[in-house]
Amino acid sequence: MSADLLDFDAALAAYDPVLGLEVHVELNTASKMFCGCANAFGGEPNTQTCPVCLGLPGSLPVVNGKAIESAIRIGLALNCSIASWCRFARKNYFYPDMTKDFQTSQYDEPIAHDGWIDLEVDGETYRIEIERAHMEEDAGKLVHAGGSSGRIGDAEYSLVDYNRAGTPLVEIVTRPITGTGAKAPQVAKAYVSFLRDLMLSLGVSDVRMEQGSLRCDANVSLMPKGATQFGLRTETKNVNSLRSVERALTYEIQRQAALLSSGGRVHQETRHWHEEGYTTPGRSKEQAEDYRYFPEPDLVPVAPRREWVEQLRGTLPELPNVRRERLQAAWGYTDLEMQDAVNAGALDVIEATVAAGATPQSARKWWLTELARRANEAGVDLAALAITPAQVAEVQALVDAGTVNDKLARQVIDGVLAGEGSPADVVVARGLAVVSDDGALSAAVDAAIAANPDVAARIRDGKLQAAGALIGAVMKDMRGQADAGRVRELILQKLG
Ligand code: ADP
Ligand code: MG
Ligand code: ZN
Repeated sequence: MSADLLDFDAALAAYDPVLGLEVHVELNTASKMFCGCANAFGGEPNTQTCPVCLGLPGSLPVVNGKAIESAIRIGLALNCSIASWCRFARKNYFYPDMTKDFQTSQYDEPIAHDGWIDLEVDGETYRIEIERAHMEEDAGKLVHAGGSSGRIGDAEYSLVDYNRAGTPLVEIVTRPITGTGAKAPQVAKAYVSFLRDLMLSLGVSDVRMEQGSLRCDANVSLMPKGATQFGLRTETKNVNSLRSVERALTYEIQRQAALLSSGGRVHQETRHWHEEGYTTPGRSKEQAEDYRYFPEPDLVPVAPRREWVEQLRGTLPELPNVRRERLQAAWGYTDLEMQDAVNAGALDVIEATVAAGATPQSARKWWLTELARRANEAGVDLAALAITPAQVAEVQALVDAGTVNDKLARQVIDGVLAGEGSPADVVVARGLAVVSDDGALSAAVDAAIAANPDVAARIRDGKLQAAGALIGAVMKDMRGQADAGRVRELILQKLG
């Protein structure tokens, strides 16, 4: 299936890629875009429908105000201008997942337009210009059944589920992105990742890429190095993971470069991404004229009052990248430490642990090692572990006070996770406190000396580094609960 590819570095030596990213975000409103049906994922097929979202004759749509609010907040967060007056439009085409034969969308009057965001990738900042963020409705879902691949090609029949029809969507479209060179696939991935974090912090979407609530159409074209006129682009549809965005673009760049460098030309078309690692052609690209757009006569225009827009601006959360910079500065983490914390999804829990009194480094240590391992084993998020940030801070406080050492602290965590109570409760119940009482320690040291006469002799001869072996023996004897510093002092006293 895979076409001829040019080596990626060779492709980038000869051509400059131009990107265009269209990201669809399903809004998490309670009801659909134009009717009162539940907007929920995964219901029994065709149970969340009504005459409006089934497009029955005579039914009339009404705009969901909450969806408009979310679209405006998204637009504001992307530094867009918000239209003071705009309309919906009919995008006419036939496909069985949409009974009306048109999709209600926005065309030349998007609710938000002309924005930008700054993205940081590998220490470089890329300004991504946003052409528009417009509202539209999702279509239903076709299920191609009876074949082996789930694709239409070898299906015996197709089923249609209209539950998704009428789900509110915001489509965010960039202007052509130039100047990213070999970083193009990474920049695209970082952009989609940025949007995902942004939607989460705005609270407007679940952004589950695997469920399709955030989908990316990735356009790319190549032009010979130094040229200014863009080449013909392909649009790889519905790429549904961050990693796939990067892989699909890398593949398309290599494929287009192979075509162009052998004298061929790129067909302007949509393509499908296959997780095995290649794209295949979809349909050749229709032009806007083909859709016969016209203003939707059944809906009134949307004219958000300026005071409302300003009030919504006031509800914007701190942007995820701004928050990251603020936390990194406050915590004094290196770039690598911060990256690890972000990748582990640990910012919230670390922040709460620090707020509960732990140092940033100790909070990082517990969440990214011991607790990350346990969350991984259980297949859950850090926040879902049965230990709170305040309890993690308490564990560290017990270490700092010398009540437990790191090794015992791990057993304390075991106990908290097992539901045995607070860290202090677990220390008492499991008898985990470090023993620094000289009586008990002295007896254990005497026993260790008696059991290791040769080691004792070396220490008497002044080879103090041999003390480690005796400390180890005492620790083992006392199940790790001896105060190691005090044990060392006692050994040197007795043999000194
Ligand atoms: P379509 O209706 O084909 O999806 P859109 O305007 O919605 O068109 O989106 C096209 C995307 O591709 C936009 O992000 C646009 O900036 C980008 N784009 C346009 N021309 C090119 C090109 N020659 N190469 C790469 N991207 C392009
Ligand atoms: Mg488009
Ligand atoms: Zn409905």
